[in-house]
Amino acid sequence: MDVRLQISMVFHLDKCIGCHTCSIACKNVWTDRKGAEYMWWNNVETKPGTGYPTAWEDQTKYKGGWEQKNGQPDLKMGGRVLRVLNIFHNPYLPKLDDYYEPWTYKYEDLFNAPEGADQPTARPISMVTGKYMNVEAGPNWDDDLGGSPIYAANDPNLEALTEEQRAELFEIERLVFFYLPRICNHCLNAACVAACPSGAIYKRGEDGIVLINQEVCRGWRMCVTACPYKKTFYNWSTGKSEKCILCFPRLETGQAPACFHSCVGRIRYLGALLYDADRLLDAMKVPDDKLVEAQRDLILDPFDREVIAEAMKNGIDEGAIEAAQRSPVYRYVKEWNLALPLHAEFRTLPMLFYVPPLLPVMAKSEDGLYDASNKELFSPIEKSRLPMEYMAKLFSGGNVDLVQYALKKQYAIRLFKRMETVGDIDHATVKRALEQVNTSEEEAEQIYRLTSLATMDERYVIPPSHREEAMQMLNDDTWAEKGEVGLGFRELPVRGA
Ligand code: SF4
Ligand code: SF4
Repeated sequence: MDVRLQISMVFHLDKCIGCHTCSIACKNVWTDRKGAEYMWWNNVETKPGTGYPTAWEDQTKYKGGWEQKNGQPDLKMGGRVLRVLNIFHNPYLPKLDDYYEPWTYKYEDLFNAPEGADQPTARPISMVTGKYMNVEAGPNWDDDLGGSPIYAANDPNLEALTEEQRAELFEIERLVFFYLPRICNHCLNAACVAACPSGAIYKRGEDGIVLINQEVCRGWRMCVTACPYKKTFYNWSTGKSEKCILCFPRLETGQAPACFHSCVGRIRYLGALLYDADRLLDAMKVPDDKLVEAQRDLILDPFDREVIAEAMKNGIDEGAIEAAQRSPVYRYVKEWNLALPLHAEFRTLPMLFYVPPLLPVMAKSEDGLYDASNKELFSPIEKSRLPMEYMAKLFSGGNVDLVQYALKKQYAIRLFKRMETVGDIDHATVKRALEQVNTSEEEAEQIYRLTSLATMDERYVIPPSHREEAMQMLNDDTWAEKGEVGLGFRELPVRGA
């Protein structure tokens, strides 16, 4: 057992109100700079929809993530030779139009326009060319338009649905969508780390945060292609690539990242996970629909004596272990099986997990029609207006059972609290619903409390930082091993190296 520590995250999608406060907080702190205008390290997209950059999930177009070749994980963008050949012309990079042309307004026109019969207007100006432009796309262009045939029809996840299901989805188009906030997943098997020909990207030993060394980066942009989530960006002004740094200067001083701290819906949770690095490669080799379970199996019980002993042998201190024991992420992901990784089939082992949205449960789809006249108060999950196959494509590598379990559990908790607070649901119904997901009333209460009432200290359990004795996980010669693995380390951690 080779125990490592990873800062991990949970986003509870049922609580996201799509306010974009998180994106603005991040923009103001990190990407309000020349060359970074188009970057949104944190963005919030509407699903069904194409997201930012457009159709980022379509790996036939972008070639991000890993695939299995001869039983081994291999970068989808090709091996070392192909990457060298593409170094001066990489056909898989998103173009500016895939992101959007960033713009501002000539605000002074509003104040300085000569007096006239018309209201003055501020015209949009390109932040790239400085010229007037027509705005035709933006990072959240299809905001709230989930289901619109123009945007949502191009959502790559719809391929999991039958023609019939798609038609049904579009028939009720204005009624079903949810928000998907995204940041870098600080993956265990980071494709960006593996793809960088300069050895500039590394996974920080003591907490697993993935960073780009700006002094080493040569701007080859292989990381932009390799990241299947499109969460590394090229800065055209500095000639370097950049990405979400999980606000590490804030974490090191015990503060939550800016997007977490500012989250209006309180959907975000952050905490440490202990995992077994010895089993990483095995976890990557299982079929798509087994990936979530394999990833869960990597996560170790922070209360287990043997795990604690091995963690301490690897230099993980008591404070960090204690933080792992209080981690809200551990509870949602491992104990309760409620939070799932986004697109596990990209095989980067992402460390940001999502509680899938229950969506309104007051109505159901029946024979393609939206039906709000239920005999029972809530409609059953199986009749959800977003087909389970769609949710499974996003959150469980196509495994419908896993996503259905997470939704049924939330549903059972809703019934349980309704019984307690309103009293119009009988105990037998609640008992049945809880039993279906093997959940006790005590656990239901705990899930309710962490979901609805948790304080900031309970949502963000940040392990104490020890940068002064930072753990190194990389060989000195990172260059030599580039393109082989994205695990971020190849040797036992050494304190103070
Ligand atoms: S591969 Fe993972 S760690 Fe690397 S930028 Fe993409 S999401 Fe982040
Ligand atoms: S701040 Fe929170 S609630 Fe608002 S969009 Fe971001 S994640 Fe959602």
